[in-house]
Amino acid sequence: MKFNPSYAPGPTDVRENVRLALAKKTNNTDFDKEFIHYYHEVSKKTGQVMGTTNEVLLLAGEGILALEAACASLTEPGDRVLVLDNGIYGEGFKDFVRMYGGEPVVLSFDYQKAIPVEEVRDFLEKDRDFKYATFVHVDTPTSVLNDASVLSPLLKEYGILTVVDSVAGMVGEPIDVDKNQIDICCGGTQKAISAPVGLAIVSVSEDAKKAMDDRKTPISSYYANLQIFKGYIEKGTLPYTMPASTIEALDVALDNILNEGQAAVYDRHAKIAAAVRKSAQEYGLSLFLESGSSNTVTAVVIPSEIGALRLQQHIKETYNLYIATSLAQYQDVILRIGHMGENAFVEKVLAVLTVIDHGLRDLGFEGKGNLGQLFLEAYREGN
Ligand SMILES: *Cc1c(COP(=O)(O)O)cnc(C)c1O
Repeated sequence: MKFNPSYAPGPTDVRENVRLALAKKTNNTDFDKEFIHYYHEVSKKTGQVMGTTNEVLLLAGEGILALEAACASLTEPGDRVLVLDNGIYGEGFKDFVRMYGGEPVVLSFDYQKAIPVEEVRDFLEKDRDFKYATFVHVDTPTSVLNDASVLSPLLKEYGILTVVDSVAGMVGEPIDVDKNQIDICCGGTQKAISAPVGLAIVSVSEDAKKAMDDRKTPISSYYANLQIFKGYIEKGTLPYTMPASTIEALDVALDNILNEGQAAVYDRHAKIAAAVRKSAQEYGLSLFLESGSSNTVTAVVIPSEIGALRLQQHIKETYNLYIATSLAQYQDVILRIGHMGENAFVEKVLAVLTVIDHGLRDLGFEGKGNLGQLFLEAYREGN
């Protein structure tokens, strides 16, 4: 397969030491009983970066499997599930709920703002009969950040379990699973963790485990069933052959994060993101969001006479770089600048913004100044 450089909000760059870990010879993990302990250690290390001592499971699949596994494992036929929707992934949870026989109640909000917590509270005052609720930490297609530190405790206050998609948030934005009382937190390896695609991450609280134990009907899945992992250490066996190489690569990627220091990683994301937002606006582009900007991705609006898809195509043909537009109704409207994990370094963002500046000018956009230069100035001011 020919390599084409890309710069998107995931999959992100994978550092060399992580890629080298993939090439190591592995034991036959079906026979090697030590592997189970290694799996457990890497799971706990993953929990450490998520701020949890809850059990963490690494599933063979990618981020989407985490969302499906959470819904498959919690939903029983007829269960009412509150789906908080202020973005494309947020709304998408309803499909998983329905697929497993649940009744999603979708509470929709303005896609250009973070979920308004007071409105959620008002709603819960009238209706709190939900087994669990779902929301997205960073809804990548529009870049909106929701405040898990208030939303999740609020839902718990009303006796509702929480499922949070932090695939594009964790490590770039604090998720603090334990502090925020998140029952099932979903992640993936290919976003801010900057490991290869191939593992879904879920942390599972005691309350979530109890809800699964208390089910009256069996879970209608094998691969998306979180209970198949129950007691794996005591049993000395995992439910299927694990992708050992990907787990080794994740281990190294987690060490990279922990060695840099999580506070430093958050700070790096915050500074880059602030400079991207400031420079894009100074340049003459508008941000899609009115509130709730995330530090892992920025959605900018491309004027309709240019169109995000045409800009993407032009940049690919002329500068040999894949950049990301958005999804669904925003496909031709939004250009996404992903700055998460290994992509959140000043030299990489500078290069990408310089290419975007050229691409926009080629198509007739008159930017105020040079986007790369503006970014660099904003970044220096913020440091
Ligand atoms: C990337 C991502 C996922 C995983 O989805 P893929 O499109 O398969 O990579 C899930 N949720 C969010 C918010 C994501 O950004």
